[in-house]
Amino acid sequence: TKILFNDSIIERKKLIDIEDRGYQFGDGIYEVIGVYDGVFFMLDEHLQRLERSAKELQISLPYPISKLKKYLMELVHVNNLKEGVVYLQVTRGEAERWHYFPSSDTKPILVAYTKLEETLRKEEDHGATAVLTEDIRWLRCDIKTLNLLPNVLAKQKAVENNAVEAIFYRGDIITEASASNVFIVKNKEVYTHPANNYILNGITRRKVLSICKELGIKVNEQTFKVKDLLDADEVFITATKLDIVPIVKVDQQVIGFGTPGKTTREIVEAFRGSILEIDHM
Ligand code: PLP
Repeated sequence: TKILFNDSIIERKKLIDIEDRGYQFGDGIYEVIGVYDGVFFMLDEHLQRLERSAKELQISLPYPISKLKKYLMELVHVNNLKEGVVYLQVTRGEAERWHYFPSSDTKPILVAYTKLEETLRKEEDHGATAVLTEDIRWLRCDIKTLNLLPNVLAKQKAVENNAVEAIFYRGDIITEASASNVFIVKNKEVYTHPANNYILNGITRRKVLSICKELGIKVNEQTFKVKDLLDADEVFITATKLDIVPIVKVDQQVIGFGTPGKTTREIVEAFRGSILEIDHM
């Protein structure tokens, strides 16, 4: 398959220098963008978030977002990707290893490639299990940076416990999960952590919030506690291409009736509908 390397679409090969700041410091940002039936889902939102991450870390993008958008569409086309994601990252570039920013003429390095990935349909229909783990991340979780060690450790814990996700708690507050946002349903109302520095404001999360509005489901962007999660009627997680996965067991405790709840199913249905709409545009 082909990849996007700065401003050319080329064959995949080894390209990155040992002094790339992404490689040495995790000094970079990324996006994972869903592709359904060959078409991007919420591409503009992902690119806007990339621009924001870049700004927050004072990383300059190599060229305007409008140009990047054209390259990404070309990449999906040349690789004939139908179901999957585009992984995109930008590092601060290659420079002699010093912690401080390199000189202003250092060029950022942008890489994007396509990856086959299918929606977890079985989990979406039947529900999945999660584990709880302490949120030991830094205080700028709103930036989508390459620094993912706490997320890596958390996801490994989930895998070792045959769970799909590890849900983070900071103090007694549920923030999000290792690679997804967390929602609970209590008395037919939805709760999710507010979009502040403690979580990544997921693109799927935003879509779910707008779906809830359309469906007349009340959403509270409010913090909730570990106890509230365990006592919830329903729990679900959201992320790109994972879409919406109902969580029916957390740390061996059954949530609600142990099956995907009515409100979650309603939201999943509407979400699937919005994907079909995109495909036919
Ligand atoms: N939270 C974290 C920590 C993530 O890494 C991700 C995505 O990978 C999400 C939330 C979900 O974001 P999105 O819906 O934009 O994929």
